[in-house]
Amino acid sequence: MSRRRIFRKQQLKFMVLNLVAFTIIFSIFGIIIFSQVQNTLFSKTDEELIGFKNKMLAENLFWETKPHPPNKEFERNGAPKEKQRPNPRIIVLHWNKDGEIVNQGEIGTLLYENYLLDFKLDEKVLDTITNITINEQYHFRYLLFEDSNDNDDIAYTQLLMNTDAEQTIIHNFGKLIMICSLIFIILSISASYILSKKMMQPIIAAWNKQAEFVENASHELRTPLTVIQNKLELLLRTPQEKIADKFESIALSLSETRRLSKLTSNLLTLARADSAETQLVLESFQFDDFVQKVSEPYIEIAESQDKHFWLSLNSKINIKADKERLHQLLVILLDNALKYTNEHDSIGVKTYIEDQQIVVEVTDTGIGIKEENLQNIFERFYREDKARSRETGGVGLGLSIAQWIVEKHHGTISVLKNQQKGTTFIVKFPK
Ligand code: ADP
Repeated sequence: MSRRRIFRKQQLKFMVLNLVAFTIIFSIFGIIIFSQVQNTLFSKTDEELIGFKNKMLAENLFWETKPHPPNKEFERNGAPKEKQRPNPRIIVLHWNKDGEIVNQGEIGTLLYENYLLDFKLDEKVLDTITNITINEQYHFRYLLFEDSNDNDDIAYTQLLMNTDAEQTIIHNFGKLIMICSLIFIILSISASYILSKKMMQPIIAAWNKQAEFVENASHELRTPLTVIQNKLELLLRTPQEKIADKFESIALSLSETRRLSKLTSNLLTLARADSAETQLVLESFQFDDFVQKVSEPYIEIAESQDKHFWLSLNSKINIKADKERLHQLLVILLDNALKYTNEHDSIGVKTYIEDQQIVVEVTDTGIGIKEENLQNIFERFYREDKARSRETGGVGLGLSIAQWIVEKHHGTISVLKNQQKGTTFIVKFPK
C-alpha cells in the first residue's frame, strides 16, 4: 500500500473516531437535557396528582370530585361537608370490582361518551403515575389507587390529568434537539476533518523522519560494506601474494570495519533513545574531576597533532548524572574538536556555575561552522562537509546523540554564535 493511501486511511480512521466521540458526547448531553426538561414538566403534574390522592384519602372524599363544581355533595360518613373546589384539571374515575366506571354521571356524559367509553381498568399500574393517550390525540397522566373501604361499590379510584400542553412543549423541544443534532453532526464532520488532519501532521512528520533515517542509515552502512567487499575480492583474486604486499587493502578494510562498528553502535543508541528504552543510571560525582579525567587522553592526542589543549575547571560542584552518558557526551564534543581543527589550533574545556546551572564549554579555534548551518548540526546524519567528515570517520550522528544525552538530563546544548574563529559548544545542566 502506498504511503499516501496509508495516511489517508489513518486520517479517515481518526475522523470517524472523532465523529463518534462527538456524537456520543452530544447524544448524552441531549438525553440528559431532554429527560431533565421532561421530568421538570411532569413533576408539577405528579405533585398535583399525589396531593389530590392524599387529600382524598385523608378526608375520605369520594363521588364529589369532577371537572365542574359538584351540584351534589356526598361524604361516606354522611356528615355535612363544606363545599369543595376540586382541581379543574383532574378527572376522578371510580371503578367497581368488575372494572366498570361507577361515577359516569359525575364525570359528565359528553366527556364519558366521547373519551372514556373504551377506557379499561389496568390494575397492573397501581400506585404508579402512568402516561396514556386517549383517542390517539389527548394525553393524560394518571394515578390509580385501591379503595380499601367496603362500605360502597368503589374498588379503585383513578385520577386523570390532561398533559396536552406539557406534551406539546416536550414534542417541540424534541424537535429542537433533533434540529440541533443535525446542525451539530454537520459541524462535527468538519471539525473531525480538521482535527484528524491536525492529528496526522506529527505522524506524517515522524514517518518521514523515520523513512529518511532508515535511508541514510542503509546508505551509510552500504558504503563501508562495499569497500570491504571490494578489498576482500581483490585479496581473493591474488591468493599467492604476501600479506605485506596487500597491507593497504587490509588496513583500509580494517578501518572501514571500525567505522561500521561505530556506526552500528551509534544507530543502536539512537534507536533505543527513540523507543525511550534507555534509562539513566544517576549517581553523584565531582564534576571537575570527571571532566579532567575524560579530557586527559585528549591532551596527549592534541599534542601529537601539534594542537594546544587547555582546561579551566571552576564548577567545584557535585553533579547527579549518568556517568557513562556524560562521558559519551564529552567524547563526542572532544572528538569533533579534534576532527575539525588543524595544526597549531587550540582546544579547550571550561566548567563553571552560572544562574544555578552547571556549564561545560568545549571550544576550539578550528574551521568553525557556517552561521547558516548552525541550525542543522544537531540533525541526524547532517554533515557540513561530507568529504572531510567521512575522512575523519564522522557520519553526522554524534551531535544528535549529544543532544539526546543533554535533554535526558534536562539540560541544554547550544553553539556560540558570531564566533570569530572556531566553534564553542555550551552545555548547561540544572544544579
Ligand atoms: P560527525 O560525525 O560528522 O562529526 P556530528 O553530529 O558530530 O557528526 O557533527 C555534525 C556536523 O557538525 C559535522 O559534520 C561538522 O560539520 C559540524 N561540527 C561539529 N563539531 C564541530 C566543530 N567542533 N567544528 C566544526 N564543525 C563541527
